Formats: sequence, C-alpha cells, structure tokens
Amino acid sequence: MTHLLIAGHGRQKNGVFDPGATGLITKGEHRYVKEDLFPAMKKFLPKNHDLVFFDDYNVYSYGNIVSLAKKYNASQITEFHFDAAGATAKGGHVIIHSNYSPDKMDLALRDTIKSMVGTIYSHKGHAGVSGRNNLANVNRTANAGITYRLVELGFGTNKDNAKVLTEDVEIYAKKLVKTLTGTTNDKKPSASKPSKPKPSKPQSSKLIIDGSWGNATSELAQEVYGLKIVDGIVSGQPKNTNTKNIPSAKYGTSGSNLIKAMQAEFGVPAKYRDGKITYPSMLITNMQKHYGTPQDSKVSYPSMVIKEWQKALNKGKRK
Ligand SMILES: [Zn+2]
Repeated sequence: MTHLLIAGHGRQKNGVFDPGATGLITKGEHRYVKEDLFPAMKKFLPKNHDLVFFDDYNVYSYGNIVSLAKKYNASQITEFHFDAAGATAKGGHVIIHSNYSPDKMDLALRDTIKSMVGTIYSHKGHAGVSGRNNLANVNRTANAGITYRLVELGFGTNKDNAKVLTEDVEIYAKKLVKTLTGTTNDKKPSASKPSKPKPSKPQSSKLIIDGSWGNATSELAQEVYGLKIVDGIVSGQPKNTNTKNIPSAKYGTSGSNLIKAMQAEFGVPAKYRDGKITYPSMLITNMQKHYGTPQDSKVSYPSMVIKEWQKALNKGKRK
C-alpha cells in the first residue's frame, strides 16, 4: 500500500491552468508544491518509504481521486495547499471530513505544521484541524472510505508564513517526510534559501518535448528571449480557443512581453504586435509556416508547432 501525496490545483480538465492561491508566493499553490515543496521532500526520502508524489494535473477538476487511489494502491491520501486571506491571518491546518475525528497522521502533520508556522482553527477540540463537508475531494474520499486529508501549509498572504514556506522550504520538507514516513535520510536541509527570482542565466534544465505550452516552456522562452520577468506566465491574454490550450496563459487585457517578442521574431508586422494570442492568430500561423506544421492557426493540446518551438528553446534558440 502507498501514501499518495497530491499537489493541489494545476491543469484543469478543460486545459486551463489553475495556479491556486498566490499572495506573496506569486507562482501560486500548484507550482509551489510541484516545483519547490515536492522536490525538497524527495531530497530527504529514506531508502524505504511508501510515498507517491502526484502533480500531473488538478485532481479536483478531473474528479478522479478515488480511481487515482486505486491506481496507486493508496491506503491514504494527503493533498497539499497553502491558504490565502488578509495579511494578518496565519498558521496552517489539516482539513478532514467534519464527521471524523483526526487520526494519528492528521495530528502528527498538525504538530509539524505548528512547529513551522503555528496553527489556525480547531475541530472537535483539536487545534490546527478543520472539519469540512463542502469540499469535493473530502467528500469523494469519505464516500469511498479512503483516508484523506488536505493540508494547508500556512498563509501565502502572510509575510512570516510566506517566508517560512519559501526560504525554509527544505526544513519544512524534511519534517514532513519524517512525519509521513517515520524517518528521513541524513541530508541537511538548507535554511533561509533565497526565494528571489534568479537572474536570467542560461538554463540547464531541458524541456520535455510534449507540445504543451506550460509554465516551464514559458519560463525557458522568457530566458531565451532575454526578458526581464522570468515567471513562466503568459500574462494578459484574451480567452479563446487558442489560449485555453496554453496552460501558462493568464487571462487579462495587458498582453504579454513574451508574445510581443515572439511576434517580432516570427515576422508579425509591427502594427499587429500587441502581445496577445488571438484565434485565429497570425503569430501561430507564422510559427506553423516556419516549422512546416499544418497551418490551421490553432494551438492544440498537445500542439505540433509547440513541440517544434520547444526543441528550438532547448537549444537556446528563439525559433
Ligand atoms: Zn488551494
């Protein structure tokens, strides 16, 4: 049997990326857990453990938590999030179904959370535990008789909590591994890890050529294109057939500097370089012409033209 660990939020069933709450941790809950917390936890795993890490997509949106539990032969599930509210709310908590009392693991996780960020709320006399019956995954697992908890690691909107979550992520991660498995390896966590976005240096990590224009693709593109902001997000995009297939697109009206730079690179006339991906899109058509993929002006999910562009980005080329 395994203990399935799920990163909350992420790519929804309709293809749109749900970052979760942001606050002072601007990458949002999903990317924080997937890119910072889970890798840090993996660093401290003992030789033998039963943990399975899952961060492929938004399990809440897919509605398949019960079948995932079966697939991974899970005896219990822990889902990771952080909270958002006003600047003063702080502390973490463990959410379980309101009908239940916390089990040993719920309380052990609560103690770990308490040691890092303090706790908030209480349920059946247990501080740092919340009882809910209006959360989809809480109810789906309760109905299926699967042990499930949702951990809120602290408030991303509180200065002190956000600092612990980012700068002390390795300390938090090592404690969580110890709580979940009973032990850890003997690696030392690095404290006060700077959380500032790193200056744009050539990236060594390569993209997986999957044709999905996700955050990693946008991030590498921003680096290759030498942009000031490297956050993996295509900001200010209109909602349409194309952008809904771009998981790193964020809806808005401002347009994106990355898209502007790409419009120039792929020969969109100056007066049409508005930083937005429309449908149909001159930029996408020009990219399809450049790479010799079918010219339908459309970003599919996955997309042949994005695959070709990812190959170029991996070589440090703009196109
Ligand atoms: Zn959340």
